[in-house]
Formats: sequence, structure tokens, C-alpha cells
Amino acid sequence: MKYQGWEMENEVHESLKLTGHPFGGGLIQNAESITFEEAKEYNPLIILRWRTRQCVSCSQVFDITSQGLLYKCGVCVG
Ligand SMILES: [Zn+2]
Repeated sequence: MKYQGWEMENEVHESLKLTGHPFGGGLIQNAESITFEEAKEYNPLIILRWRTRQCVSCSQVFDITSQGLLYKCGVCVG
């Protein structure tokens, strides 16, 4: 079980590197927004690691560190 946990962590690290974006504060510091669909094409393991996301409801770009939940902006969540 411990080994599987380590494997998973390794895969996350690899996926984070593959995005080509800097990683900090637990999030991928992407300057340009990513949609839920695009994020799924990378690796579902890191789907909630993207900082700048596009809202699935209103297409507004938002920063997850200041508002929103999952792939919905602060307005659509509230
Ligand atoms: Zn929204």
C-alpha cells in the first residue's frame, strides 16, 4: 500500500513537470487560463492543481486562490 502511494505521487510529479508551467504553492502557476476540458487532456490526477481556470458555466477566467470552486468561478458557485 505504501508503495502504491509512492507510485501515485511520482506520477503526479511527472504530470506537473509535463505541463511546462512553474509549480508553486501547491498549484500550477499557469498565466493563461485552462478549461476543464483541456485540463482533462493533461492528466486527471492534476485537474485541481491549475491556478488560472475558465468557468464551466460562464466562461469567465478566474484565479482559484481568490475565488471559485473546482471549475466554477466565485459568481457561479455563490
Ligand atoms: Zn462562472
